[in-house]
Amino acid sequence: YAKNGGKNAWRTFTPSMRDDAHKRFKLDNNLRRALERDEFVLHYQPQVDLKSGDIVGVEALIRWVHPQLGMVSPSDFIPVAEDSGVIVPIGEWVLREACRDVKRWHEQGYPLRVAVNLSGRQLKESALVANVLATLREVDVDPCWLELELTESMLMDASTDILDRLHALTDAGIQLAIDDFGTGYSSMSYLKTFPVRALKVDRSFVRGLPQNPEDAAITRAIIAMARSLKMEVVAEGIETQEQNDFLRANGCDKSQGYLYGRPCPAAQIGQMLARTRVGACAVD
Ligand code: C2E
Ligand code: MG
Ligand code: MG
Ligand code: MG
Repeated sequence: YAKNGGKNAWRTFTPSMRDDAHKRFKLDNNLRRALERDEFVLHYQPQVDLKSGDIVGVEALIRWVHPQLGMVSPSDFIPVAEDSGVIVPIGEWVLREACRDVKRWHEQGYPLRVAVNLSGRQLKESALVANVLATLREVDVDPCWLELELTESMLMDASTDILDRLHALTDAGIQLAIDDFGTGYSSMSYLKTFPVRALKVDRSFVRGLPQNPEDAAITRAIIAMARSLKMEVVAEGIETQEQNDFLRANGCDKSQGYLYGRPCPAAQIGQMLARTRVGACAVD
């Protein structure tokens, strides 16, 4: 018998489930080995301030350079890593690597902030705050340069332990942003409770801009709400100049998307920084 998602629900372990479990087990083993063998890399995507046009930050996005399969997308392995818990050491690796890269950019004179995606599993770790702060200290990066991206679902069922953890992170100077905003839940009560500084408008709303009236209305509403809550708004997935113009005209703060650059290795970001204006974003 195999335990099924629900509390007291049990169902027969079918051959196909066994295959599935077997595949997952293999992939999980591979992920641990991949970490030991240093097969992960970070790519970075620039975030641009819509008022000044300056690059003010980058988002770190993990990739797995698999010896046989080549570049594996995070959407294919992050869910597996979350199920097995190996996301915890992978997340620690991502944070350390991102801090080292941002430290180097700072030393070269580029005042960038780095955004790192956090998984729900990491938030459940009681050692999270101590680990994050230890890494920042070890690499010698001020917490104000780190932004952690959370999703709505992580906050919807958050315990008071998690709320305490998020406060400890922001008290230390780390910024929190809600990723894929508008796709998770219709309830927004968590925005009152959690110390969130920025909302990232999901790219499913950006895609239809500026023509689609629903996407335009939703995007305007998110920007207006963020404004009145004194939060920053970042739009994701900007591919066209028209989308960019709409967002700027409607008061969006920052934009991130293929229009400014696809996620690319740190070395390429370095070249981009050398030929673009880089500015520190206002820290309030
Ligand atoms: P996300 O955090 O929402 O990241 C944005 C995704 O949109 C990235 O996909 C990026 O490559 C893609 N993107 C950016 N601009 C555009 C655009 O203009 N058009 C289109 N069509 N796509 C764009 P990617 O890199 O495949 O990452 C997918 C997801 O995997 C991320 O979504 C994030 O949820 C997760 N992820 C990535 N790295 C990490 C990590 O280090 N830790 C955790 N826990 N999750 C990660
Ligand atoms: Mg993200
Ligand atoms: Mg997103
Ligand atoms: Mg690197």
